[in-house]
Amino acid sequence: MSTDPTKPEILVIEDEVQIRRLLRLTLEEAGYAMREAETGRAGLDEVLRHMPDAVILDLGLPDQPGIEVLKQLREWNPVPVLILSVFGQEGSKIAGLDAGADDYLTKPFGGGELLARLRALLRRIKPAVATSSFRFGRVEVDFAHRRVKKDGHALKLTSMEYALLQLFITHRDKVLTHRQILRDLWGAKAEGQTHYLRTYVLRLRRKLEDDLDAPKFFQTESGIGYRFVCEADEG
Ligand code: CA
Repeated sequence: MSTDPTKPEILVIEDEVQIRRLLRLTLEEAGYAMREAETGRAGLDEVLRHMPDAVILDLGLPDQPGIEVLKQLREWNPVPVLILSVFGQEGSKIAGLDAGADDYLTKPFGGGELLARLRALLRRIKPAVATSSFRFGRVEVDFAHRRVKKDGHALKLTSMEYALLQLFITHRDKVLTHRQILRDLWGAKAEGQTHYLRTYVLRLRRKLEDDLDAPKFFQTESGIGYRFVCEADEG
């Protein structure tokens, strides 16, 4: 197994040998080092011993559900986690994101898609809101003064719109489930109120997107939640 310290190390916890083989080809070709574990227990052990830069976790493992592995991991370790699920298992995907996964891929997936997700995961390790301003597209957010401008003109955002925008920027590139966003902004009692959220996302899109019919920044993850996507440009 490669242990080149200059390469980002990815731990794959997956019992299917075919998928591990595919992942190894894709990851090593792209300049990553890969470690592998076939069970949840072995995977947790690997995290403890080698502190990988990111983890790719299959939800269907032989010894325990991937969700349980994730919950145990999240008790002590913030490493970025990408979960792998099988087509049609929407519920387990959402449970995985709620339990602290950063992103997901549905099997079968393409190598390009996997690498794009992984790059986003690794780039996100640095939090955005510690900086004083943040730019995306034609929009500039000034955190110190809670001001938002588009093309240099001040925009009026309600405090809830601003809070939602701030949440998205903090978790840029990450899928946030409806439940996570609702809980964060409105509290646990609002977890089921997906329609509130839809309204607020629409308002943000109206104010901040260039094309409302093809939102570039505030993307819908169908049936799951939203993802704020942008190239980082921090001031
Ligand atoms: Ca499996």
